[in-house]
Amino acid sequence: MKAESLGSQGAAEDAGRGSRHLTSVVTGMATSDGAGVKLTRIIGQPALPDLDPFLMLDEFNSDDPKAYIAGFPDHPHRGFETVTYMLAGALRHRDNKGNVGLLGPGAMQWMTAGRGIVHSEMPEQRDGLMRGFQLWLNLPARDKLSPAHYRDVAAEDIPTVQLGDGLTARLLAGEIEGRRGAVETGATEPIYLDVIAEPSAMGALSVPFDHTAFLYPYEGEVTVGHGEAAKQLRRRQLGILSLGNRLDLAAGPSGARMLFAAAKPLREPIAKYGPFVMNTEAEIHQAIADFRAGRF
Ligand code: MN
Repeated sequence: MKAESLGSQGAAEDAGRGSRHLTSVVTGMATSDGAGVKLTRIIGQPALPDLDPFLMLDEFNSDDPKAYIAGFPDHPHRGFETVTYMLAGALRHRDNKGNVGLLGPGAMQWMTAGRGIVHSEMPEQRDGLMRGFQLWLNLPARDKLSPAHYRDVAAEDIPTVQLGDGLTARLLAGEIEGRRGAVETGATEPIYLDVIAEPSAMGALSVPFDHTAFLYPYEGEVTVGHGEAAKQLRRRQLGILSLGNRLDLAAGPSGARMLFAAAKPLREPIAKYGPFVMNTEAEIHQAIADFRAGRF
């Protein structure tokens, strides 16, 4: 699926009004990764291989330790960023650059793999609920071999912004309504929100017109768009949004919680091999060789 084609269609339809609407809906696929962690892959699966510049979105949500306890032991990354946002449980990060972090409920980790990092992401808990998301954000060709960078953001350091009556957002990244998020980074100018809607709450937010954008309600349901173009998005459906400079939201009667992400598309070739995402096959071979030679 190409964001470009969706985008030009959206641009034409929305030129007069500017309110984004749903152009397609994708349902996640159950799979496992790491040492056998069960998860739902929403972006990065056959129905949606990527959504430029987003490469992957995983949701993990289980109260069965067998489904998560083996975690993600040491593994490499090169060429993009991983953004992990926790709702419940605790995840311990360690990497070969000497960074250690514990990610608890409401906290976020933003890791720029750049030219290479080897890390582990291991559940700290022995029981109870483990819930969260990992988003992979691509880097432009010129930044793929930049130095690796890691940062943890504690739950209390994530600002909240009011979007309407009963509609608030935790501002994980980017700038919305003049408020700056916990992280501001990168060539794709990402905006990443966890939106919390009370029952039947309504509101709108301003967004850059031509950013690729999606909405993912992980609790409740939400109506997206304005007037006749408004459509309902159900729990655990990923809605791809048309272009536009505004997003109108109306929560269902039980309220909703949803991820909203937007970023500038890169429109560069993608060569992907597991945890390496480059522009060409030759660069993938180089990544494998560099990793094997201990150059990460
Ligand atoms: Mn990883």
